[in-house]
Order: sequence, then structure tokens, then C-alpha cells
Amino acid sequence: MKVSMPGEESGHELCEQCGLCCKIFGDTITPTAENLFVWIEQERQDILQYFSVCKPDGTWVSCTDLRPDELYNLVTVEMRDPVSQEYLCACPFLRRVGRKKYLCRIHDVKPEMCCTYQPWIWGETYFNRCQALKKLNHDGRWPV
Ligand code: SF4
Ligand code: SF4
Repeated sequence: MKVSMPGEESGHELCEQCGLCCKIFGDTITPTAENLFVWIEQERQDILQYFSVCKPDGTWVSCTDLRPDELYNLVTVEMRDPVSQEYLCACPFLRRVGRKKYLCRIHDVKPEMCCTYQPWIWGETYFNRCQALKKLNHDGRWPV
């Protein structure tokens, strides 16, 4: 999820923008209430349409129909296809821009979990298929 680009927020310029972490984990991204608030404020229907929320009464609504005052009383948020409401197999915001290069289409406002994703944290978010990590120290540590 760091694809766009992992290094940018945390100073880790080693991310090769291969897109693999987004391809593998991108179908499970979940925005925070703050992320949703920003998207609502900015009228980002193009993003909101991919998420549905379960309200305390058990009803599901598209985030395009969500009011800001409802944000802090949600049971769960899920990424769904805007038309079929089926689960997605991949993040809809990942864009291929070269043979082996990918960017995040919503980089400036991407979910917090994408901003903070760190493939070098052993035991938590370690991702041994990360292209940048593979080229680093044999012990897999990302230089900080
Ligand atoms: S929102 Fe962006 S950073 Fe997050 S998984 Fe999708 S493409 Fe990757
Ligand atoms: S797998 Fe690693 S190198 Fe590839 S986009 Fe993710 S963080 Fe960057």
C-alpha cells in the first residue's frame, strides 16, 4: 500500500514503486473516519463510491450518501464495487505508469493505513516480497 510512494512520507526513497504491496493487500484497505471526512469535504465521489459502511442499525449505505455527522458512529467500512456491491479483487486506485512502475491515483488523500504502511517492520507489516527490501541488508532491515 505504500506504493505511492512508501518513501515519500517517511523518507524511505528506496521504494521502487513496483506496486506489489498494493496488488497484494490493496483489496482490503479500510479508510479511517478522518479519511472519509476529507473525502466528503472534498466531494471525492470518485473515491467514496468504492466504500460502503454499516450503520449501527445494521443498514449498509454507500459512502457517497454518508453525512459527516454520521462518521463517528459507524460499525464497519468495506471496499466494494460501486455497481455490483461485490468485493473487489484489487485496489481500484492503483495505476500502472510503466512496465514495472505503479502510482496511487489518490496519493494525496490515500487512506491512513497506506500512508503508514512499512514493509520493513518485522512481525507487524513486514512484506518479504517487497522489491526494495530484497535489495537491502540480508537481515531485511530497512535503513532508517
Ligand atoms: S489506495 Fe493507493 S496506496 Fe493504498 S493500496 Fe490503493 S493504490 Fe496502494
Ligand atoms: S512492495 Fe516495496 S518496493 Fe514495491 S511498492 Fe511496495 S514498498 Fe515499494
